Formats: sequence, structure tokens, C-alpha cells
Amino acid sequence: MPGFEIFGEEERKEVMDVLETGVLFRYGFDNVRQGHWKAKTFEKKLCEHTGAAHAHLCSSGTAALSIALAACGIGAGDEVILPPFTFVATFEAVLHAGAIPVFAEIDETLCLNPLKLQDVLTPKTKAVIPVHMCGAMAHIDKIKDFCDTNDLLLIEDACQSMGASFKGKALGTFGDMGCFSFDAVKTITCGEGGGIITNSANLYERADQYADHGHDHLGGADRGADDHPIIGLNYRISELNAAVGVAQINRLNNILAIQRKNKNIIKEAISDLKDISLREIPDKDGDSATFLSFFLPDETRAQEVKKALADNGVDGCFYWYDNNWHYIRRWHHLKEIKTAARLPFELNYSSIKLPQSDSIMKRTISMQIKLSWTEADIEERIRKIKNALT
Ligand SMILES: *Cc1c(COP(=O)(O)O)cnc(C)c1O
Repeated sequence: MPGFEIFGEEERKEVMDVLETGVLFRYGFDNVRQGHWKAKTFEKKLCEHTGAAHAHLCSSGTAALSIALAACGIGAGDEVILPPFTFVATFEAVLHAGAIPVFAEIDETLCLNPLKLQDVLTPKTKAVIPVHMCGAMAHIDKIKDFCDTNDLLLIEDACQSMGASFKGKALGTFGDMGCFSFDAVKTITCGEGGGIITNSANLYERADQYADHGHDHLGGADRGADDHPIIGLNYRISELNAAVGVAQINRLNNILAIQRKNKNIIKEAISDLKDISLREIPDKDGDSATFLSFFLPDETRAQEVKKALADNGVDGCFYWYDNNWHYIRRWHHLKEIKTAARLPFELNYSSIKLPQSDSIMKRTISMQIKLSWTEADIEERIRKIKNALT
């Protein structure tokens, strides 16, 4: 998944453009910036890549989620349905919006199970946030149908799936808004950065305002002439970070091609091995191929294979069931509601039960796909994986 693997001259050039003008701010300073608008340029490219009508670049993927929630008007006491397999940022953003995270089961796509949303639907449900985990998609068409039927907002957390699509349509464009992360370990990186996309001019306008203290950005070069239609916050990205992102998004197609090629070779080589069944991917052609994920028959075998992979020197393997960033089982801070300050409501996740998600996560191993591997590296890797599994 990592754009950081192929850093180079282009990133340096884009950053130097910014340093040479000294304009690190994304707005204004029109007469000294010598035509360099890195955040704006990135936004245009993000629209081109995803086919979305509007894009707004911000300081992180977490900020993107917060902005999307705010723009969609999700706040005090609203319930938002989320998967228990994600990154902690998804529920953090919901809590900080004053809304209530409600966890629903995942399926073998490793994303929200559309058939299990009904179980947690209440009159307070306002939105669903499916998370397209590990580079590939949820059953997003079915989740969208559920949202349409029940008049719910749909915000896609596509932070891990830049460049992925379902039936030719980019992830992030199925919902009212889509969110991306460009942090240091994502498919492309700004160092720190995030983005939202939407086809709605109204939602875009709200997002653009909220992310910059409510500024309407209608004052032209004079920021002081902007009005503030809403109260916002500061989720701006700096031009330095955006500059890195411009170079990276230019590499995106190349990154995807390499990932897909590398993943395919390994997939072909191991998919027939005893005990392995592959993650369900609703549209294989749309997989961004950052990870190869598979299931073992049971937890004991998964633990055994995890250890054997490590013993054989196969790096970049993840057993999410034990992971404390990505799966609810180890989110003790959430289960004990350890917040820095008092929440506006009482919450209790201490006895939450998600048996289907547990039974899937217990059996899942994911392998990161790297860009820098040579053919010889991949052959060596396949040999080690086969050793570990037999
Ligand atoms: C990385 C990530 C985020 C948050 O992105 P940051 O840019 O690190 O704030 C949100 N959701 C998911 C699923 C992620 O993987």
C-alpha cells in the first residue's frame, strides 16, 4: 500500500516550488505564489481520478471523516452504523461529532455485512459508514440500497482504498461523501493529509466552509472579506503536504498497476494451498491490491500459520484479531470509555457481542503487497509462504 516506497525527484520538485515562493498557505497570497496552488491542484486530480464532481483536501483522513459528518449534519445523539474492523479514527470521528457509534457485523469481504444492518437500525439511525478495508470494497451496492430504502446518509471511509472501484465506479462515489487518507502508510501519501469527495454542490460547500473556520471563500484574494455562514474548525492542509501529494497522485496509476501485478502472482501461487480460502472481493477488477487476505479453517490453524509465516521470514503479515488499532476486540479504551474529557452522553460497549465478526477475524491473515519487490523477491516470498503453510 505504500506510496512512501517510491519517493523521489518529483516529490522534491513539487515541494521546492512551495519553498521557493514561501507561500505555505493554501488560500490567498495570489501575487507572490507564482501560480502554485498545490492543494487546489491535488483536488482537481482527485476529481479526475474518482470521477467525483467536488473534492476538498484536508489535514488527515480523520479530519476528512469529521468534515464529512459535519457537512452531512450528523451530530448530537444521532446513531451512526460502523464496522468493528476499521481504524480507530472512524469511531473517534463519530464520537467527536457528538454522535453515537453503533457497530454491525462484517462479512467475508472484511467490510460491513449489508444483511446485518437491519439488526441495529433504530429510529435514531442517521447514517452508515462502511469502511473499504485493506484496499478492496464492501458490498457497496447493497449497502447503498439499504441506505436509500431507510433514508439514511451514506459516508464511505475509503481511507485505505484510494484507486479501488466497484464495477468501474470509484469507491467514495457511492455515498453522499467519500473520505480518503494520505497519511504516511497509505497508497499515496502527503506525509499527513486527507480528502473528501462528493457529487453534491451543497455538501461540498459545507465541507469547504467547515474545514476552514466557516469561511465561505467568496472574498477573493482578501480573506478578511470572507463571510462565515457556519461555525467551523481548522482542518486545513499546508501547501508543503499538498505538494508531496501532487507528485504522489501522479504516480497512482503506476502504483496500482504494480500492486495488482505483484498480488496476482502471489495469489495464483498460493490460492490452491490446503486450508486457504481467499477474502471475498465483490469486484476483483476494482481491487487496489494493497493486501492479499485469506482465511484459515479455524483460529488454532490461523495462529499456527501466523507463527509459521513469521518463523519463515515472511514479513508484512497481519493477524487483525489481535491488533489493537483495527479490531474492536482490543479497543479497551473504547470499551472502558477512556476519554480525555466528559462525553455528552452515557455509552457502554463493555459487553458488545459481534460473534460473526469474531469468527471471521479469528481466521483472517492479511499480507501487505509491496511496490519495491523484484521478481526474485516475489519468488522467494512464495517459496517461504509455501514452506510456512505445509
Ligand atoms: C488511515 C485511516 C483513517 C485515518 O486517516 P489518518 O490520515 O491517519 O487520520 C481512517 N480510516 C481508516 C480505515 C484508515 O485506515
